[in-house]
Amino acid sequence: MRKSGMKKAGGRKKHRPLSHLVSNFLLLTIYCLLLLSGCTKEENIYKENRVLMDTFTSITVVASSEKEAREAIDAGFAEIKKLEELLNYFSPDSEISTINEAAGESPVKVSKETLDIIEKAVDISEETNGAFDPTIAPVIKLWKFSKNSKDVSVPPRKDIEEALKHVDYRKVIINRAASEIYLKEKGMEIDLGGIAKGYAADKAVEVIRSRGIKSSLVAVAGDIMGVGFKNMQKTWNVGIQNPRSGSDSDKPWEDIFARLQLKDAAISTSGDYQRFFIKNGKRYHHIIDPNTGFPATSGLVSSTVIAPEGYIADSLSTAVFVLGIKEGMKLLESRNLYGVLVNDHKEVTVTRGLKDSVDIMRKDYKISDISE
Ligand code: AMP
Ligand code: MG
Repeated sequence: MRKSGMKKAGGRKKHRPLSHLVSNFLLLTIYCLLLLSGCTKEENIYKENRVLMDTFTSITVVASSEKEAREAIDAGFAEIKKLEELLNYFSPDSEISTINEAAGESPVKVSKETLDIIEKAVDISEETNGAFDPTIAPVIKLWKFSKNSKDVSVPPRKDIEEALKHVDYRKVIINRAASEIYLKEKGMEIDLGGIAKGYAADKAVEVIRSRGIKSSLVAVAGDIMGVGFKNMQKTWNVGIQNPRSGSDSDKPWEDIFARLQLKDAAISTSGDYQRFFIKNGKRYHHIIDPNTGFPATSGLVSSTVIAPEGYIADSLSTAVFVLGIKEGMKLLESRNLYGVLVNDHKEVTVTRGLKDSVDIMRKDYKISDISE
């Protein structure tokens, strides 16, 4: 561990504010959580930020010594790094790239982690009828999302239609016994951008727990998984970013529209404000509807999902964004998951289990009741 990077964040010491570099509103959550959680005299909260998976990642643990914390945090980051190396779509050396290059030619032997996440991604695709589809990559690469609107263009429709022919999660062949993945057709590609961060948070928490640390929180950008904490009577205080924060704000993640109390869970938000460009007054964002190949136009601008595991929260927040309020709520309620969905009129719909715990903090946002 880089010694200088780790901060003791709890115990008798005053809590420090989070690093200004941490560019995600949900990391505010951690700060609130630290304030609420409390530690015994023997234990402190330790926290470190690093850049991994091309984003800001943070690990917080409750431990009885700096040494114990350091080893656990190192192990957590090592796990995330390992997954980054296996799963990075842009790295020619990753297992994902090897699978993509061999599409239509031959199965590829992969690690148990790669097999596991692809299996999970395909399960979620089935469950969401393809609203989440990890084979969306050929379409994604046609779109170049950037906040610099001078740099952007909408891909020609014929290119999108051509790329869409290669999108179909049912053509991912998984051979568990041989630990092999095969993409049935040439031109197919997998991109795990909508699930890998949540999955990595899960795995890091698992590794940390295996070292005897009962309480930890891992945030890979906005995909957060937390377990334990000293006092289970205390709850998480989670903020959700205002999806229409003023463009002049240099810390939009600090502008939250809602707060809610949660226990022991994972949380992810997908939004049309995270990566997008505006062309001729129209917003084009990074969550693609696999039916059309264009950015999803479900009427949602933000979808937050709370689930027992990070990979579920991550992939379903993407899927719910594509499905829209009606179908999205149906999916979440049927799985007894929690969600907070916002439409383009700043109307907020929440799942039944959360109704009494969401605190709307901005006057321009209103809870809307959907009676079925
Ligand atoms: P998230 O921010 O978790 O909603 O994930 C968005 C990322 O997932 C995008 O940047 C793409 O890499 C990928 N993606 C976009 N649309 C989809 C989709 N419909 N199904 C699966 N992955 C997607
Ligand atoms: Mg997601």
